[in-house]
Amino acid sequence: MKQSKKTTYSASSKDPCLQELQKLLGERLSLSESVREQHGRDESFHASAPPEAVAFAENNDEVAEIARICFQYKKPIIPFGTGTSLEGHVAALHGGVCLDVSGMNQVLEVNENDLDCRVQAGVTRKQLNQHLRNSGLFFPIDPGADASLGGMTATRASGTNAVRYGTMRENVMGLTVVTADGRIIRTGTRARKSSAGYDLTRLFVGSEGTLGIITEIQLRLYGVPEAISAAVCSFETMEGAVNTTISTIQMGIPVARIELMDEVQVDAINRYADFDYALKPTLFFEFHGTEAWVKEQAEMVKEISNDEGGSDFQWETREQERQKLWEARHNAYYAALALRPGSKGWPTDVCVPISRLADCILETRQDIDECGLFVPLVGHVGDGNFHLLFLIDPENEEEELKRYQPLNDRLVERALRMGGTCSGEHGIGSGKLKYMEAEHGDSLELMRQIKQAFDPHNLMNPGKVIPA
Ligand SMILES: Cc1cc2nc3c(=O)[nH]c(=O)nc-3n(C[C@H](O)[C@H](O)[C@H](O)COP(=O)(O)OP(=O)(O)OC[C@H]3O[C@@H](n4cnc5c(N)ncnc54)[C@H](O)[C@@H]3O)c2cc1C
Repeated sequence: MKQSKKTTYSASSKDPCLQELQKLLGERLSLSESVREQHGRDESFHASAPPEAVAFAENNDEVAEIARICFQYKKPIIPFGTGTSLEGHVAALHGGVCLDVSGMNQVLEVNENDLDCRVQAGVTRKQLNQHLRNSGLFFPIDPGADASLGGMTATRASGTNAVRYGTMRENVMGLTVVTADGRIIRTGTRARKSSAGYDLTRLFVGSEGTLGIITEIQLRLYGVPEAISAAVCSFETMEGAVNTTISTIQMGIPVARIELMDEVQVDAINRYADFDYALKPTLFFEFHGTEAWVKEQAEMVKEISNDEGGSDFQWETREQERQKLWEARHNAYYAALALRPGSKGWPTDVCVPISRLADCILETRQDIDECGLFVPLVGHVGDGNFHLLFLIDPENEEEELKRYQPLNDRLVERALRMGGTCSGEHGIGSGKLKYMEAEHGDSLELMRQIKQAFDPHNLMNPGKVIPA
């Protein structure tokens, strides 16, 4: 994809839709250039496209009224959580109003006996875990950024714990959603399972703001495990590291985390977070359970890794050390950016069936080497998901994109050929639109019809997920 030029829609206080919104929200409708600029970009290299205005909503009724006003004037709405997405998700490609729900940040209920909770969409994952700290419960989904749970639902996010606890798909039980025409609807229930009708919850999970605005989320929670231990193991070859992952998953060992970094990324986190791990392909593990069960899992994985040429396990048992380790993993993106100061990051991710992971990673590594490019590779490999980070020099962007774009195209083509997907967790935004046809074929037309049914005037985050 050629990097899009910055799109600018001007903010006009004479616009009748914005005037009505201003009457509703007062100072909570911002036309300020800096606020609009900040809401028109995500955390990646994708060009900014500021909205005409930013509306800061505080409750469901207000969100519904904003939607009704925008529906009346046919003004696009781009929902916004914390803006940490990576595929141009929040850029206002067709102008309109950015609807920032970060002020809707209350944990509404925690049902300890049922292991679930209800939160407003602006609550972040760290805020929820802070709220739960004395309850013996936690919420496991952990994208690197401290994203909002509304944004995580909308992107079907996952993270390092997904191999054990699933992604947002498995952990959202129900939603409150404001539709494009301003109705407030509830999907799902608090029951652990249901066979009653179409699963609208799953439809909104991963819809990236294109079907409605999520205002509340019912989430599953988990008991904090009795014992947790983390270990680091380096390998002489990438093949050894990936084969260890595959065997661990195929044997059904319930690791909580199994993360891969290649030697370039290990170098980056050594420098960034003051570690001294060997500059080799490395796996980071975490085991959850009782003391005995954690020990048993670790022994089994150690045996597998020994057979694949793994080093001794370096244990991180104290909580502080473990936190430092996972903090560094979560900061892998920023650590890699620091390898090329001033660069902009273009992270891309694909996901393949676990049995094809070695083929996909090794072919990709060979492709990168043959292109003579310098590209860190990290992965939530227990899920068959891995990421490349292209470090783009903004001074030479056009030329560099000519080298990275074909590499990304081949990466996606390879993942699809192996039965995988063009994105395991970052989503489509506008950056991966062009792969939707290849991945979904005829069912893309059905997705268009669903979009049309939910959003007949194409007002909800237009230009994302579904190619025109
Ligand atoms: C350093 C770093 C590491 C990351 N690591 C991971 C990772 O490991 N796993 C992963 O999955 N992602 C990862 N991400 C990507 C990002 O954090 C996730 O996509 C996250 O879910 C986005 O949440 P957000 O609140 O920032 O959403 P935003 O960026 O604000 O919005 C994302 C999309 O969701 C829509 N949206 C937001 N809120 C709502 C709402 N209330 N209702 C309807 N639609 C809404 C927006 O319109 C947009 O399309 C990472 C990002 C960074 C910067």
